[in-house]
Amino acid sequence: MRVVIAGAGLGGLCLAHGLRRGGVDVVVLERHPTRDARPASYGIHLNADGLRALHTCLPGENWARLVETSTLAPDIVRFHDQDLRVLAERDHTGTPANTDPVTRRRAVNRDALRDALLLGCDDVIRWGTAFDRFEYTGEGVRVHGADGRAIEADLLVGADGANSRVREQRLPGLRREDLGIVNIAGRVRLTPELASALPETLIDGAVNNVVPARPGWMFLSTWDAGAEARYVVWAWAADRSTYPDDLDVVDLRELVQERTATWAPPLRRIIAETDPATLAAIPLKTMPELPHWAPTAVTLLGDAIHNMTPMAGIGANTALRDADTLRRHLAGGGGVRAYEDEMRDYANAALALSTRNARGAATTSRLPRHAFRTVLRLAEALPPVKQRMFPVR
Ligand SMILES: Cc1cc2nc3c(=O)[nH]c(=O)nc-3n(C[C@H](O)[C@H](O)[C@H](O)COP(=O)(O)OP(=O)(O)OC[C@H]3O[C@@H](n4cnc5c(N)ncnc54)[C@H](O)[C@@H]3O)c2cc1C
Repeated sequence: MRVVIAGAGLGGLCLAHGLRRGGVDVVVLERHPTRDARPASYGIHLNADGLRALHTCLPGENWARLVETSTLAPDIVRFHDQDLRVLAERDHTGTPANTDPVTRRRAVNRDALRDALLLGCDDVIRWGTAFDRFEYTGEGVRVHGADGRAIEADLLVGADGANSRVREQRLPGLRREDLGIVNIAGRVRLTPELASALPETLIDGAVNNVVPARPGWMFLSTWDAGAEARYVVWAWAADRSTYPDDLDVVDLRELVQERTATWAPPLRRIIAETDPATLAAIPLKTMPELPHWAPTAVTLLGDAIHNMTPMAGIGANTALRDADTLRRHLAGGGGVRAYEDEMRDYANAALALSTRNARGAATTSRLPRHAFRTVLRLAEALPPVKQRMFPVR
């Protein structure tokens, strides 16, 4: 069996390893000319789904590299008010998944994860060959690269990211939607001076949310970018209607400073010390709920089929899970249909969660915000409510 994978990203590379270990002939097309041409890195939290998939698909050497270049991360999510009082803390550090050596939550730089995935893949990747189009043949599919060359295959997998060209041809009606929410994201170097001015809860590796009484929301986490470089990364999320029309020319730091002028001093300091060059206004987009379609010799995985907002932190984990799910169904005889049926279920749940989180963060109406803060306080006071609110998967 021959499988062509369009895209040497996280999901595509994980699938390439999984299939090769099962004896499948794999060709990966990647538009970037070399392995060194890559987008800016960022921190990724790997959860049990992503780690289980990587552990199953990767050869031992690649898994060892991943473990070596990543760090264990606490599975803690906190919600604070704007004065940095904890409204609720969800701590899943002691759950079965987080005490299992394979599935314990890890933090890794995207570059380091990609390097661990690239190890031993050089012979199957065609660098500088963008996927252009496909055509069905009697037996399978003919895949055309932008370099004019064609490859015959039994299956084409579009793993070519959020703006997938494979999806464009395979499912032309299915497009990303703009949620009308804009995140202003930035990062600040965590110097010893800054660290000493911040509470431990903001820099212990947990995911922190600031839920003010008024519209707006802030997300904060730390990112170990290797060597000495440690950053606090943050994002201010709000409905587009709350921003000025000329967002592309306004001073983004000043704008967030103005909105958070009465917040606790450590939060204001993080914003004030953020390098303006790291700031960007990012409109949040998502795929809609995935409908049913009939399986063919062309399928999709990862952001190519279920690109979601970053507000649940599970885009990469879901892409890795897809890779292992597809590998398993191809090996077990269920084929593309079984993969797509299973993937559609968990991907729709992930899309719904990330969209719900984004809409909740950006709400402009005071009542749901007030109710959410009340429920968080209640959950903190009553363990059964907390367990229902943050169930252990
Ligand atoms: C700042 C930030 C933080 C994030 N944090 C997390 C996190 O903590 N946890 C999490 O789970 N997710 C996180 N994500 C999301 C995650 O990075 C993505 O969901 C994940 O990278 C998707 O993997 P993928 O393999 O589907 O696509 P990608 O990794 O985007 O790979 C797509 C590949 O396809 C290639 N390509 C594109 N077009 C073509 C073409 N025509 N021909 C050939 N190749 C092509 C691209 O060059 C690329 O190599 C984060 C995202 C961002 C931006």
